Amino acid sequence: MNLTGKILIAMIAAVVLGSITQQLLQNPDLNSTLHYVLNDLLSQGLFLLGGKLFVASLKVLVVPLVFVSLVCGVCHLRDQSSLGWLSGKTIALYLITTGVAISLALLLATLFRPGEGVNMALDAEFKPPVAMPLIDVLVNIFPTNPIAAMAQGNMLQVIVFALLIGVAIGRSGDHGERIGAHFNDWNEVLMKLVTMLMQFAPYGVFCLLFTLFAQQGIGKVGDLLVYMLTVIGALLIHGFVVYPLILKGLSGLSPWMFLRKMRNAQLFAFSTASSTATVPVTLRTVEERMGVKNRVASFAVPLGATINMDGTAIMQGVATVFIAQAFQLDLSMTDYLLVIMTAMLASIGTAGVPGVGLVTLALVLQQVGLPLEGIALIIGVDRILDMMRTAVNITGDSMVSVVVAKSENAIDLDTFNNPKAGEQA
Ligand code: ASP
Repeated sequence: MNLTGKILIAMIAAVVLGSITQQLLQNPDLNSTLHYVLNDLLSQGLFLLGGKLFVASLKVLVVPLVFVSLVCGVCHLRDQSSLGWLSGKTIALYLITTGVAISLALLLATLFRPGEGVNMALDAEFKPPVAMPLIDVLVNIFPTNPIAAMAQGNMLQVIVFALLIGVAIGRSGDHGERIGAHFNDWNEVLMKLVTMLMQFAPYGVFCLLFTLFAQQGIGKVGDLLVYMLTVIGALLIHGFVVYPLILKGLSGLSPWMFLRKMRNAQLFAFSTASSTATVPVTLRTVEERMGVKNRVASFAVPLGATINMDGTAIMQGVATVFIAQAFQLDLSMTDYLLVIMTAMLASIGTAGVPGVGLVTLALVLQQVGLPLEGIALIIGVDRILDMMRTAVNITGDSMVSVVVAKSENAIDLDTFNNPKAGEQA
């Protein structure tokens, strides 16, 4: 069985066993030894530890891998002036796909009216989040101290610094060549480490999902069923209809092959709910399974994991309409346009870690004058939606990487079309 199959089995087992455990733990008559074993020993002990170690093992690779791989990609560019064009195309595609995502979300939310008749009993404990002003988001792109940027995992700053170093290496003649070769070697070594760590994924995924489902299940659904279904519907349409259409239309490549090869990375994204933690896996998928050359993948993937959040924009679109309906406030046409624009910016400002989409939702709500307390209504079911939207987020990053690579002649089509390329056992 290949790795994807193993991860899937682990996931299903974790969801089923975790949910049974949650039911058992809620039973007041449960025998105290069994309670101790299920709660303290397993879900709060062994599996919690396993899940945390798994996420840590992915996260530890993100900064070194992004830095090394991007320096490598840039310093080996034969024509550095193409960098501007390449990044322009990538960013434009990221913005366009996010625009489509949020429009789709608004359309579905106005059709299905998820917030109508919702009971607005608010959580008294809830403090509305404070989102970072957009100007700060932009100023923050430029590093003042590269070591601090790396230590804090500030992805955009690491990207900017790597780009600068890469360009300089490319222009430094023999010196640059020597150091470029070192970066190449490091890149191979780090990629090998990604492959090695991915072998543990079935166990890691089991631990993460078991703990989650044993502790909170899928949350209090109640009135939120239509909201959840609307978000999930929009995510599915975007992931399985919009992306394949764009991929086919712009690159002519097979959407089936693309989706098939995405499965592993999507499962990682789903289990960790973090685009950033998934970067090593996405990068490996795009390069080794789809044949995208490092000079495109090393830039597009980490940038996408930081600024391209189509799934998050979808949640924010549906949530905005939901909150407006729940509070019986009307949104005008101008409000809808404002929502589209701010959700695009908010998705840029959303870090690729669990739950941040809900924080930047505050930006969108503020723009159209909706009460921030509305966020309390949907917080209970956000984790499961976060997992799903993160899978869409990284699918978008990969799709754009493939499209840009095809347009730049930077993809090995034999690898892309070979279903077994880069597959792990
Ligand atoms: N968890 C999402 C991601 O990492 C961000 C969010 O929507 O909260 O892509």
